[in-house]
Amino acid sequence: MAEIKNRSLSEEFLIEIDKIIDYILCNDKFVVTSHINPDGDNIGSSLAMCGFLEALDKEYIYLLDDAYPSSLVFLNREGLRKTSDQVPSLEGYTVIAQDSGSYERICMDKDLLETSRGIICIDHHHTNGDYGFINYIDAKASSTCELVYNIITRYEDIKARPIIGPEIGTCLYAGLVTDTGNFQYSNTEPSSFLMAADLIARGAKKQLVIENIYQKNSPAYYRILGECLNNLEIIDSKICIAIVTKEMLDKYGLEYGDIDAIIPYTRDIDGVELGIFIKQKEIDEIKVSLRSKSYIDCTELAATFDGGGHVRASGCTFRDKSVEEVRNMLLEQAKKLF
Ligand code: 5GP
Ligand code: MN
Repeated sequence: MAEIKNRSLSEEFLIEIDKIIDYILCNDKFVVTSHINPDGDNIGSSLAMCGFLEALDKEYIYLLDDAYPSSLVFLNREGLRKTSDQVPSLEGYTVIAQDSGSYERICMDKDLLETSRGIICIDHHHTNGDYGFINYIDAKASSTCELVYNIITRYEDIKARPIIGPEIGTCLYAGLVTDTGNFQYSNTEPSSFLMAADLIARGAKKQLVIENIYQKNSPAYYRILGECLNNLEIIDSKICIAIVTKEMLDKYGLEYGDIDAIIPYTRDIDGVELGIFIKQKEIDEIKVSLRSKSYIDCTELAATFDGGGHVRASGCTFRDKSVEEVRNMLLEQAKKLF
């Protein structure tokens, strides 16, 4: 078998990994947090880091102001989650911020964050501004879960002590699966499959992950999907736009977090390179998801509107604009990328 190199474990990254392990071993109080609008990688990597800190007998707070989407509640430890209003101060605590492409997107009160000792940043967004005092950032990694896996397995190797079992394994597997689109996307590397194999061998509940994330759609979700797909707009055979308004969400009794599974439909049409999904979260707030298939850099389009993300998956947010205005602004800029 050919030797499989894990880029996230190359010399430059090992230095940061070892700094993180040393720092955790030499300090006692941590806050684990991630980005707003939590997804599988956010929650999976956070719960895995919490499990690691627990195994090391560290004191920690899991702090995330946004609630879990219903499809991820099965990861089970939502009771652990605290919000900023429940924590008066973070004096003496070090914040481990994971999967958050910028300081602004960290999902906690920033005045509270400023009372901490500082931030250790673990992330795979290339728009990340190195906002930590230690930064383990590999923009080519499949997921933040893969980076957390590298940290924990490095510790396991150094200390000859196993940490990852079924519970941490399931959390890491959930983030790996969701951020790679179930191993479909170009960020899926040989190292991602090795990690998946290792996690499954250690008891990660892979069917539980698949059943909860992909096989628990509500009838209301199918109805909104139907309406949304009926009204898809395809421009020049290359750009696809889908829209879900607040009115549609209310009509079907769905929350904004319940419809993310619609996003890939916009990209997955033959010939389409760029998918744009416009979600009206509130009357005055519109969230946009951008997805590309093989050559458009979504971060370029997102950055035009102060957003960010990955080359193949980015997002941006609009306030006080109508759906029509947002559609027109995005389309005008998107056309320039071709
Ligand atoms: P999604 O479309 O799944 O919400 O997000 C795709 C990627 O884009 C994620 O990695 C996320 O971090 C990033 N992203 C989504 N929305 C925003 C946004 O409003 N601002 C920034 N900076 N990044 C975003
Ligand atoms: Mn991620």
